[in-house]
Amino acid sequence: MADTLIGAIDIGGTKIAVGIVTAQGQVLAHQSFSTQPEQGPQASVQRIAQALITLTNNQSANLSGIGIGATGPVNPFTGRFGAVEFLTGWQDYDIIAALTAACGVPAALENDADAYALGEWRWGAGRGASPFIVVTVGTGIGVSLITAGQVYRGVDGAHPEIGHHIIDPSGPPCTCGAHGCWESLASGPAMEDWAARQSPSLPRRTGAELCAAALTGEPSALAAVQRTARYLGLGIANLVTLYAPQVLALSGGIMRSSELFLPVILNTVQATCAYVPKEKTRILVLESDALAGLRGAAQVWLSRSDEPKIE
Ligand SMILES: [Zn+2]
Repeated sequence: MADTLIGAIDIGGTKIAVGIVTAQGQVLAHQSFSTQPEQGPQASVQRIAQALITLTNNQSANLSGIGIGATGPVNPFTGRFGAVEFLTGWQDYDIIAALTAACGVPAALENDADAYALGEWRWGAGRGASPFIVVTVGTGIGVSLITAGQVYRGVDGAHPEIGHHIIDPSGPPCTCGAHGCWESLASGPAMEDWAARQSPSLPRRTGAELCAAALTGEPSALAAVQRTARYLGLGIANLVTLYAPQVLALSGGIMRSSELFLPVILNTVQATCAYVPKEKTRILVLESDALAGLRGAAQVWLSRSDEPKIE
């Protein structure tokens, strides 16, 4: 029997990657192009379909399905985009129906962070772990929770918003209306805002600039990094206490300087989490890998066929 082949689509705000992936997670062929959101989603679907046809032409088997990871919010069950900041004009667009019609094979959708986490669970650092948690620290804090190889679903299929669990109710206001949410204290912008407030006479520095300065031992940058690390550690310790994960993986922009943050995070987990076997939770930093998004999208398709239906 010929291999199962999966069409994998990774839709970002600036770039769309399309690939052909085997059931073993091998990316056989891929290409990418700019998203051009101003041309509308239908134009992108046509380009994706054309790319899939071109990439499949040289393969020995047809596609069994298509997995999509897309910058969110997206509804994985209706296939529709929510109010996506980077994709003007895509709101309410049903990408599953459009791709299924254009390619003649069924499709499944997750937001790109969950797709990435599914791929890491199947073939990467979280291979087979349950629960497996990926914390992405960037402009916000996104958390993907994978249990038994499936994305955790709340009521009505909802995605938990762990970046908005409150760490300090006297903390800064958050975009969600609450105060002291985890991402208002420990994301990249939270670190930049705090550093700017401490040194109002200096030019504002980006997270990457603060990390670089902290690595040279500059006291004000070091203070911003240490504060961020402490809040990251508190949130991660909460996740360890709540879910007792087998593997908790860290990803995202500021984790490129993970050596600045990881020791404090590990110490915080060590100092708390008394009632769970924290020594059995592996906390690690994900390596960046250009093809991880496509493998994740492929796993969206593979895992969806095993997922219990929500009635
Ligand atoms: Zn919030």
